[in-house]
Amino acid sequence: MDRPRILVIGSSNTDLTVRLPRLPSPGETVLGGQLMTAAGGKGANQAVAAARAGGEVTFLGRVGRDAYGAAALDGLRAEGIDVGRVVVDDEAPSGVALIFVGAEGENMIAVAGGANERLTPADLDAARGCFAQADVVLLQLETPLAAVEHAVRLAAEEGVRVILNPAPAQPLPDDLLAGVAVLTPNEHELALLSGRKVADETALADAARALRDGGARAVVVTLGDRGVWLASDDADSLVPTQPVAAVDTVGAGDAFNGALAVAISEGRPLADAVRFANAAAAVSVTRHGAQPSAPTREEIERQLA
Ligand code: ATP
Repeated sequence: MDRPRILVIGSSNTDLTVRLPRLPSPGETVLGGQLMTAAGGKGANQAVAAARAGGEVTFLGRVGRDAYGAAALDGLRAEGIDVGRVVVDDEAPSGVALIFVGAEGENMIAVAGGANERLTPADLDAARGCFAQADVVLLQLETPLAAVEHAVRLAAEEGVRVILNPAPAQPLPDDLLAGVAVLTPNEHELALLSGRKVADETALADAARALRDGGARAVVVTLGDRGVWLASDDADSLVPTQPVAAVDTVGAGDAFNGALAVAISEGRPLADAVRFANAAAAVSVTRHGAQPSAPTREEIERQLA
């Protein structure tokens, strides 16, 4: 079987993490930090997760003409991801996240989106052929909404299904959800998008149904170690995940979405695809980091067995 083709459109960042004895207060300098540099950004993370899960992945986004951007693209290429349509921006720097982590694991994060914030509808038009070839288009919200909306439009014109991971949480234009086959909020994003509190299972089901009424064909709410709530034509139910010894849940959502895109592209029913994605995310939380922790196909299948 040909590998499923996934077009991931989104952000690429470099995460600069400084581990400190304690977090600084405004105006204060804290010495004794240790720097770690890692590739990040939800778009790039999900592209890597989809490639490792077995997808043939094209990544579309913007990076700056600088060392961070070059390193980010090299990292994606090393995963076998096609970055030939990524726009290299001459004016804006590559996206960077500055992360301070204190002794107890508490953190402060500042993101300079840089080139990510300059992705335009015209960039996507220039890569229109990628839409025509894709089985699934996978989107998040770390690039401008105008680009996200245009991606949904192009996918509809080419008859390609869209998975939208609505993270980070923000209000969406009214008609956007009508072009979304699968929406994958976490509980916080679900509450914001539905305008409802999500205190118990009944409220969860109601909020997910509200987003389906708003146009999304299916809603998959990620619930951390509880698994997911699946709301579709065929199901309105909890899909639990297997318990694992979690050490770092950063990037669990990205591992989940990348694997989900692959499983859906392979034509699996949504409930099966969600189990596959739960397994991928479960493996990812047993390891440190976002991109490094995304599992291979073999590891996902071993977790499922
Ligand atoms: P993040 O922002 O950290 O990437 P998220 O808030 O988007 O995560 P979560 O709902 O926390 O997403 O997790 C996504 C999926 O990861 C869950 O649906 C589940 O499949 C898996 N997962 C998360 N935490 C655990 C855990 N402790 N044990 C097993 N699976 C987990």
